[in-house]
Amino acid sequence: MPPKDYDVIVVGAGPAGSMAALYAARSGASTALLDMEKLPRDKLCGGGVNAWVIRKLSIPENIVERTMDKAQVVAGDKKLPLVSWPDSLAWRMVLRDRFDHYLTKMAVEAGVSLIESTPVESVVLDNKAVHGVKTRNNDYLHCKVVIGCDGASSKIAKTAGFWSKWFNDSAQNWFDRCAYCVEAQYKLPDSEIEARVGNTTFIFYERDLMGYHWIFPKKGLLTVGTGCARTHSRKKPSSYFNDLVRGNQIAKEILKDAKLVGRPKGAYVPFSGALKPSYADGVLLAGDSAGMVGAVTGEGIYFAVRAGMVAGEVAAKAALAGNTSSKYLSQYEKKWQAKIGLDLDTQARFLRKTQNPLIAMGLYSAFVIRHQKELYA
Ligand SMILES: Cc1cc2nc3c(=O)[nH]c(=O)nc-3n(C[C@H](O)[C@H](O)[C@H](O)COP(=O)(O)OP(=O)(O)OC[C@H]3O[C@@H](n4cnc5c(N)ncnc54)[C@H](O)[C@@H]3O)c2cc1C
Repeated sequence: MPPKDYDVIVVGAGPAGSMAALYAARSGASTALLDMEKLPRDKLCGGGVNAWVIRKLSIPENIVERTMDKAQVVAGDKKLPLVSWPDSLAWRMVLRDRFDHYLTKMAVEAGVSLIESTPVESVVLDNKAVHGVKTRNNDYLHCKVVIGCDGASSKIAKTAGFWSKWFNDSAQNWFDRCAYCVEAQYKLPDSEIEARVGNTTFIFYERDLMGYHWIFPKKGLLTVGTGCARTHSRKKPSSYFNDLVRGNQIAKEILKDAKLVGRPKGAYVPFSGALKPSYADGVLLAGDSAGMVGAVTGEGIYFAVRAGMVAGEVAAKAALAGNTSSKYLSQYEKKWQAKIGLDLDTQARFLRKTQNPLIAMGLYSAFVIRHQKELYA
């Protein structure tokens, strides 16, 4: 039986959680990392990872499925001019089970206690301050700081009172701030993927769709998906997905004779900007649990990694200093804001102002080229 008292407990072993645990342990805190699943677990995702993450974490080549240096935007059934970008911005395609497990193993090698197959039900509160977590089996694990990295439907955010702080009517407003995604994998021989897609990311926009479709190539696999704002959708997300795979000529040519693996699946992703505060007495939130996803791109891995790193460091410092008050922990928000706030806020503003995902993506691409040194320092 693992010890039940830690300096820091991180809930969720996705990119935010593994990085939070790694940085907490490296900063000298006894740290546990809990996940509801047995790892490696899969996660519905396009698997596109920002070059900064690959560089910063020295992700090895065997985890990378493809290096992407071009994007083909398709508006309706028309291809816009092909866009290329420098190596410094080249995306990598990964499979989330292998990529996430690699990050978790980094944390374990740094001394983190990994506790798998353990769903957390709630935080444990004492005088409105968080002091640990309660698992579904009614086990209590105590700590000085909890970091909630448990994804878009975060039990930590909900039970620590963030949802009622952010919105008056919690659940409804949270999911209204999310996009619903439908995604599937298609098998196709690698030689065909090379010929039809190569190292090009395909992004499809439709007049009627507040979001976009994607085709992201892997080794012998194509990941095909649709993400759409819940509040702006006139059709079911699965209907938009079917419009792409059955109705769009360019997608049909790419997917010709490709074999659907299993069935399309669905998941939420936040897409309305990060939520604040992301700290309270004894608790921090990082990644999807705090809405840290680009509103224009739907990118979340990069933001989860960067926020997780900061959360781990601040939580360890607070635990070791014996000061886990919300005032002390507020430095977390200042620090992540300084690193990823401009990016997240700009994406949310572009989408809000244009109400047009294609125009917002154009504006955002120009913004990244202009500010890349500052964003990826
Ligand atoms: C269809 C789709 C496609 C996407 N494509 C991309 C992309 O190509 N590139 C990109 O950058 N982003 C993409 N995203 C967003 C990205 O997947 C997320 O932003 C990212 O995974 C967030 O990381 P996280 O660590 O915050 O949460 P997650 O990766 O969701 O990890 C949360 C972890 O918490 C665990 N957990 C949940 N609840 C509990 C509980 N109660 N107790 C214990 N453990 C729990 C889960 O098992 C999971 O391991 C996509 C999202 C979707 C839905």
